[in-house]
Amino acid sequence: MKSVDAHLADILATVRPLAPLELDLEQVLGATLAEDVSSPVPLPPFDNSAMDGYAVRADDLSEIPVTLPVIDDVAAGSTELRAVGPGHAVRIMTGAPLPAGADTVVPVEWTDGGTVSVRIDRRAEAGNAIRRAGEDVGAGDVVLEAGTVIRPAQLGIVAGVGRRRVKARPRPRVVIISTGAELVEPGSPLTTGQIWESNSYTLTAAVREAGAEGYRVGSVTDDPAVLLDRLDTHLVRADAIITSGGVSMGAYEPVKEALSPLGTVRFEKVAMQPGMPQGFGVLGDDQVPIFALPGNPVSSFVSFVLFVRPALDKMRGLPSGLPSSVTARAAGPLRSPSGRRSFLRGVLAPDGTVAPVHGQGSHQLAALAAANALIVVPEDVTEVAAGAAVEVIKL
Ligand code: AMP
Ligand code: MG
Repeated sequence: MKSVDAHLADILATVRPLAPLELDLEQVLGATLAEDVSSPVPLPPFDNSAMDGYAVRADDLSEIPVTLPVIDDVAAGSTELRAVGPGHAVRIMTGAPLPAGADTVVPVEWTDGGTVSVRIDRRAEAGNAIRRAGEDVGAGDVVLEAGTVIRPAQLGIVAGVGRRRVKARPRPRVVIISTGAELVEPGSPLTTGQIWESNSYTLTAAVREAGAEGYRVGSVTDDPAVLLDRLDTHLVRADAIITSGGVSMGAYEPVKEALSPLGTVRFEKVAMQPGMPQGFGVLGDDQVPIFALPGNPVSSFVSFVLFVRPALDKMRGLPSGLPSSVTARAAGPLRSPSGRRSFLRGVLAPDGTVAPVHGQGSHQLAALAAANALIVVPEDVTEVAAGAAVEVIKL
């Protein structure tokens, strides 16, 4: 059997970072910058008021209280500014440019709020409540480096330096297809032998959580021709494809039957539990990676965590590898098959202990839903004593 590490290594050797595109501000959330972004101007671009108040000369505040005539009113966006002469005050709003002559802003709370004249009750030092040009960013400064993922705050600074488009690797578009003649859409009634289809929902959500775009195209029956047709339809818009089911040893394994003859997808046994049968390869002229995951719900989810997620990271231009783990203490004894790496579903507690959930079958989706961690038991370990150190992957 192939090791987990060897299987992931093969996958990462095949998938490539997506080519950067010029992405509009509206499309760039979640993308990975492929250029350094710098500001063409200082930010703020001009000295401006940090508060609503009065722009004055600090020298005029030597005796407090003092009453000064208000000679102008400037709001944010004002362009015509009268200079503040000695003994004058200008009413000013947050973000408005500081008029020439003024060297301090007295917050409105320290005054009587007058509009013709203003009584100032408290002294403001020179420079008070003034935001200086360039104090956030200097002209030409790099504000985001290539390789940064655009999250909301990063999107803000892209807009804040005036860029409409940036060069970035887009979020991978991933098409998810379930296979199985027994599958019924949730919301429809079951008849004998049927179950509600869940994998495509789990996998699409996991794809989205991994920073990619998930397109759930529902399930197909166990007819390989139908699957091939469905793949053909969706290949054009996919950067990757995930299928679930139909890859084991039995009859009616549509994914294996459809893809094996192509010669570009390999079906192998990987030394892990859950998730032993795995298919991976490429499809079409564009060599779109396809992950043919096993159908058992826990198996397909664990396979996603171990193999698909790192591949998506690589496609996004991010560091990729097995998910990181932390060391915990086993709350009770654990058992694991020899020769396979186990990923037991567990609950990691705040005290650093981890307990396996009840129900470790690869079909036991409710047990998976109750877990917050995968307990990793190495291939050569069959028993773990209570209290022993174990590695866990947080979910
Ligand atoms: P397979 O890998 O197709 O042999 O499926 C293995 C097991 O997983 C069977 O019990 C299937 O009914 C179940 N299964 C397969 N696909 C799904 C799915 N999309 N949602 C829920 N269960 C599934
Ligand atoms: Mg099946």
